[in-house]
Order: sequence, then structure tokens, then C-alpha cells
Amino acid sequence: MANINELLKDLNPAQLQAVRHPPQIPLQILAGPGSGKTKVLTMRIAHLITNCYLPPWSICAVTFTNKAANEMRERLVQLIGKENTAQIKMGTFHALCCRFLRRYAKYVGIEGNFTVCDADESKKIVAKLLKPYQDRIKDLNLTMKEGTVLSVISKLKAKSLTADDARKLVEEANARSMEERMRRVIEKGTKRDILDGAFGEIIAAVYKDYEKILREANSLDFDDLLVFGVKMFAGHKKASAWCQHVLVDEYQDTNTTQYELMRHIAQTCKCVTIVGDPDQSIYGWRSAEITNLANMQRDFPTTQQIYLETNYRSTASILDASMAIISQDKERIPKTLNTSHPKGPTPVLHAFPMEQVEAGFIAAEIKRLVAFTGGMLTWSDFVVLLRYNAHSRVIEAALQKESIPNRVLAGHKFFERMEVKDILAYLQLIDNPAFVPAFTRVVNVPSRTVGEKTITELLHRAEQLKVPPITVVERIVDGKIPDIKPPVKKKLTSFADTIRDLRRFANEGMSPTKLITALVDLIQYGEHLKKTQQDHESRWENVQELINFATEVENGMPAQEGKKMLDAQERAHEELWGDGLGEWDADQVEDDDGNTPLRHFLQASMLSTDTETPEDEKSKDSKQKVTISTCHAAKGLEWAVVMIPAVEWGVFPSARSEDEEEERLARLVLTFPTAFPEINLAFLQAVIGLLYLTHATSRMVAGEQKPAELSPFIAAVRSDAKTRGVFSDELPALTLQDRTTICKVLNRPLPDEAEVKRRVAEFEQTGRHPIWGINAPFRDLPGVRQNGYAMPVRYPGQPAAQIAQPWAGGGQ
Ligand code: ATP
Ligand code: MG
Repeated sequence: MANINELLKDLNPAQLQAVRHPPQIPLQILAGPGSGKTKVLTMRIAHLITNCYLPPWSICAVTFTNKAANEMRERLVQLIGKENTAQIKMGTFHALCCRFLRRYAKYVGIEGNFTVCDADESKKIVAKLLKPYQDRIKDLNLTMKEGTVLSVISKLKAKSLTADDARKLVEEANARSMEERMRRVIEKGTKRDILDGAFGEIIAAVYKDYEKILREANSLDFDDLLVFGVKMFAGHKKASAWCQHVLVDEYQDTNTTQYELMRHIAQTCKCVTIVGDPDQSIYGWRSAEITNLANMQRDFPTTQQIYLETNYRSTASILDASMAIISQDKERIPKTLNTSHPKGPTPVLHAFPMEQVEAGFIAAEIKRLVAFTGGMLTWSDFVVLLRYNAHSRVIEAALQKESIPNRVLAGHKFFERMEVKDILAYLQLIDNPAFVPAFTRVVNVPSRTVGEKTITELLHRAEQLKVPPITVVERIVDGKIPDIKPPVKKKLTSFADTIRDLRRFANEGMSPTKLITALVDLIQYGEHLKKTQQDHESRWENVQELINFATEVENGMPAQEGKKMLDAQERAHEELWGDGLGEWDADQVEDDDGNTPLRHFLQASMLSTDTETPEDEKSKDSKQKVTISTCHAAKGLEWAVVMIPAVEWGVFPSARSEDEEEERLARLVLTFPTAFPEINLAFLQAVIGLLYLTHATSRMVAGEQKPAELSPFIAAVRSDAKTRGVFSDELPALTLQDRTTICKVLNRPLPDEAEVKRRVAEFEQTGRHPIWGINAPFRDLPGVRQNGYAMPVRYPGQPAAQIAQPWAGGGQ
């Protein structure tokens, strides 16, 4: 374990002040990217435990993603040891709520064995609920698919609005005159009343039924975790009595509900530390509220602020470019950001005729950079950041063509894969028989020739008998429901037997690892995959990976003894502080967290949705790959070189949403300023040494090649004489000076000069301009010939004649 007080010496004065700030005075640490916010937060936790003697279990540290929580955990293990770190209540708001809702479920009228319903299941439920409205939707020409409806419901929940509140909003909106509506639209920019007319009415009705279905299935969706969490912490102070300090990272991305959570968790201790960067709020379109900064000052009136103004991450050139972009945002809180790092190569901005050429350039340039830095940069130092997942296809293809190993971060997520969901559904059904989505998913997996009709009948009976559908199945098999035809009974027997066996195993305390192994054996899942799936081998690997994940979760669970002791301490504290504070009834409290190993595992997998395949994350070779990622998934990670293609209108800012169904909504709620952070985040967050922005002058959209235009944010920087120079048309020469700068910011040794020469020679020997091969097939396209700046990039030192060559005969 490191000596924390020794390490404090490495901090700059502002950082030190933030770490040592008196715990009882609420603190806002506001700072730009890479200024050590997360570092300060981590050090502050260590300081609170080591120097202020707070018990680790009384500290609540909230991060934005599970990935960020893991990173913070790793850093804390170095500072205060494994034991202490394990006791800190660290994780996302969702994970925290889930944990305490298990213990105090009865406070908020749910069962402790609730199942977390994922987005996919929610979609299925909403799709079904929308069916009766289809005619009306068609008649009125509304775009209302399940994705749209769910995202509106999610937004309502994020604002703590219930189905009844929604109903009222619709009535109010409908009562307004047309003139009044127009005036509101003008005053509020593009934010018109979404909840009006038939659209609003359908939303309110579906919202209400959706809630009913979830409650009957003893299930909470992701937003519910927060909504019920607020209810629990607000109404029952005992639930937060353990807490003596709350720390929140990435505070700029908290929404109203999350802010309420923070406020209530800190209601007894009143000790809060938040760190955030208003310029980096990426979830403007997801109800993130910068006003939460003001709210905190209102609710914790003694709040003080500390600014961190030194950037430790990027070169000066990159900071300049970033500042040129964000200072166009008139609504931002002005902040200064300096760096002690040298200037470094100027960020590159370049146009290409088509996305394939752009992608080819990216691949070629990555190769050149590796060569020209003498191998100091390796594949893992590069990231290609995309606004849309869909753009990755072309980039992947280009990298593959150049034999550059790559991986897609947050591609098709592991826990969303069919085989993984099948297994999880079986386990969910054992844990929570009322969870109907799990039942309908697996009743016919593998095929037992149970058709739609039978399933509908089973669900209908379940409703009549007021029991879960799985109970109906068991009763049929036991002959307790006589009016069922024998063939149907026969079909259901193996299903009922499997569930019974597994339930018995689980009750006997079998570990999730063994349960999954037993399950795939019982239902012969491997055979099922072989029969039905072409890529059954990789799917089977995913099943094995899920078993690995289960082992990991089991290993990570606090040892039973230690946990009991910890609980006893916590409980004692709760009794002490909880008494007289909350209006709770001791009898109502569940005696235990009710967290069986199975439940613990299910919870871990449901809340892991922001992580990629566990195996990708850890495997050694992920270190040897170029990363392709969306801007959002990359949040909080750093790379030496960042390349951002498609810096265009309609992309930055976004004119459509990831999910095409949300398109209409996205267009309604996206205002200009909210798009700033997206692009800003993309390169400020991640870039350490080199930045490339590229765009195509035409791009395939919905199967059609359409003209594309440079993003207005970047165009504005370019047309302003003062800021024009922050981007360069020329590629970095990667001279000794450039290389020295990059080494300095990366904290790496300078490569041997002979090695640089050797690699450059090897690279040049391949005998072709990196762009040539890729450009050639497109040279006859009008855009290529006419558009002056769609010429190939000129590499420093490259003879002009060489550049002209690929266009020869192109009619220029
Ligand atoms: P982001 O805006 O991306 O969340 P951040 O403000 O949380 O960034 P950190 O991730 O904590 O910043 O730090 C960025 C980098 O700067 C890290 O590599 C960190 O180790 C380094 N750093 C922070 N403070 C110092 C310091 N005082 N001396 C040296 N390096 C530092
Ligand atoms: Mg951070």
C-alpha cells in the first residue's frame, strides 16, 4: 500500500486543496478535461479514510459507468489496499439503487427478488401495447414505434414524472391554443411540447399499462431502479443512514432523478463532493441537467467551488483546437485551461471524396504513424471515434484491408446476444417466477414445438388464476388442470422438469457457474445451437464466456464471514442513526439483503450493459489492436492518437439518432448547443498526442450516395481568421521534435533513431502512397475530379509528382 500523504505531494496546489477540503463543507470541483478530476476524487476518498478516519463502508462513490468504477477501484487498491476498497459503496447510480432496493424492497412496495428488465424486453412489451393503436397511428401519420415511445417514457422517468403526471401534461398541452403553442416553441427553441395531441395521449396510456405489466412481473426497468431508489432513500432515512460522504464523478451527466438520489443519500451526513466539467456534458439530449450545479448550491447552501485549470493530458495544440470549438458555445461557463505540455503537432483536418477513401486514409495513416515514430506508437495507441455505430463497417473493412488488427468497443454487446439472453432468462425465471418476459423467451427454447397459440393460452390461464405462467405449466404437468390436451401436456413436461430441477439446485445453494453448466446440459443447449445456428461455435464460446463471468462474480463476492461482520457494523450504524429519523416499521425490513449467489450474478450481468465482452476487455491481445468506438462508449478513456471521421453536418451535430425510430424525437429535442459537447468530448477526452478530423464530401446515407458538408462547428473555426490555424491541412511531419513531444506527453522513452530510419525505409519500400491504391477506383467520380480539396494528402517531403500520379488520366 502506498503512503497517501507522500502521493499528495505530486498534486498541484488546486488539486491538493480539493483533496484536503474539509469533509463537512460540500464541494464542487469544476474543471476541464484531463485536469485530474478523477485522480483528485480517488485521492480524496483515500484521504477521507486514512486521515479523517471515515470507515470505508460509509463512503458512497458514484461513477458514470461500470468501467469507470472498476478503474477507480483499481487505483484505490493501490492507495488503501484491497480490503478497504472492497467495502466502499462504489458503482453507478443504478448499481447502488439495485443493491439497496434488494434490502429495502418492502419500503417501496416491491419484492426483493425483482428482476431488472433490459431495454430489449421493454421494447417487446411496448410493441405489444402499441398494437391496439396502430390504426390510429397510421391514420394520423405519426411515427410511433416502440423505440420512440420508450425513449419518451424514459425521459419522463428521468424527470421523475409518473404515468399520471404524463396524463396531466397531455391535458394541459391540449388545452393550449395553437398560438400559445407556437409562442412556446419560439421561446424554447426547438423544444416543442412533445406530449400533445394523439401522440401524447397514446404515450400516456402506454406508459400506464407498461408500468402495470412491469409491476405484475415483479420487474423494474433501468429507469425504475432510479425512480424507486429515490422513493426509498427519500422516504426512509434508514436506507441512507450508513452514509457519511457522497462523491460523484462526471457530475455534469447526472439527470434530475440522479441528482435527487444524491441529495437523499446525503440527507443525513450532508457531506458531498462532486467533480464535473460542464463542457463535457454529453447527455444533453438525455435529460442531463447542468442546472444540477445550481441545485446543489440551493440544497447544500454552504457549497464551495474549486477550479482545476491545468491539463495533464493533451498537447497545447490540441487544447487550442478544442478551445476554439467550445468557445463558440455562448452558453458555456467560461473556464480557462492551461497545459505545461509542449505544443506538439497541429491537429489535422482533411476532406475526402467518399467514406471509403476517408477510411482508407485512416488505415494508411495509422500505418505511417507507427513507422515514422519508430514503433513507439503501437496499434493499441489508436482509436477511431464515431458518432454512429453504423459507420464502423467501412472503417473496419479498411483496417482489415491493411491487415491492421482492430476491435469494436461497444459493438454488439455481450449481454445482448441471443445465447447469453437465453441462459439468463432461464436463471431469471428460477429467481423470479413472475417475470413473464423470461418465461415467453424460453418456454420454446430449445424447440418443444410449443406454438404461439399455446403460449397465449398459458398466459391467459395465468392471468385468470392469478399465478405466474410457469406455475400454470407445472400444474398442467401435474394433472391439476385437467382440460388440457395430453399432447400439450407432454410437450411441456421437459420444460417443467428442467425448471424444477434447477430451482431445487438453486435452493440447495448451487453456484451460478454450476447452475449454468447444469442448465446447458439439461436442455442440451449445445445441440440446439448446432441445429439452429450457423455460427454455433462462436455462440457456444459465448456461453462458456458467461460461465467465466459467473466465476468472476462469485470470486468477487465478499467472503461470507467478512460480509457478516461488515453488515453488523453497518446495521449498528443504521440502528443508531436511523432511529427516530425515518418513519419506518422495523417489521417491514427484510432481514437480509436477500442476495443469493444467483441473484447477485443476475444483478451483475444486468448492470453490466455498458461493458463489452468481458473477454475482450481483459485479453492480452486487445492491447495490440486499434480501437473503433462510438464517442459515448469511449467516455473516460485515453488514447495517444484519435481519429474522428465524418465530421459533418447531420453527424456532428447529429440529425438522426442511433435508433432510427427515435429520429423524429431526436430532431425535436436536439438544439444546437447540446451538440457542442459531443464533438468536444470526442477529442478532448481522449487525445493525448495527435488528432485527426476527417470528413467526406459525399457519403452513403440510407443506400444513397449523398453530398455531405463539413460540420458547422469546425467550419466556423476554419473561417475565423483568429482560429483558422488550429487545424492543418498537412500531415504531421513527425520530426524529432514532434516525436519528443509525443514521448513526453505519453511518458515514454524516445525510440532509437536507427529504428525510426529502419521503419520509415521499410514503410516507403512498400512502394505505394498510402492513398493511391484506395483512391484509384474512385478517380472518375465527379466529386473527386472537381473538388479541389479532395486531392490526396501530401506527405511532408513527398515529391509533388508522386501526388499527381494517381489522378493521371482522371481528366483534371
Ligand atoms: P476527464 O475529463 O477525462 O474525466 P479528469 O479530469 O478526470 O479527466 P484524470 O483522468 O484524473 O483527469 O487525469 C488525466 C491524466 O492526468 C491522468 O493520466 C493523470 O494521471 C494525469 N494527472 C492528473 N493530475 C496530475 C498531476 N498533478 N501530475 C501529473 N499527472 C497528473
Ligand atoms: Mg475523469
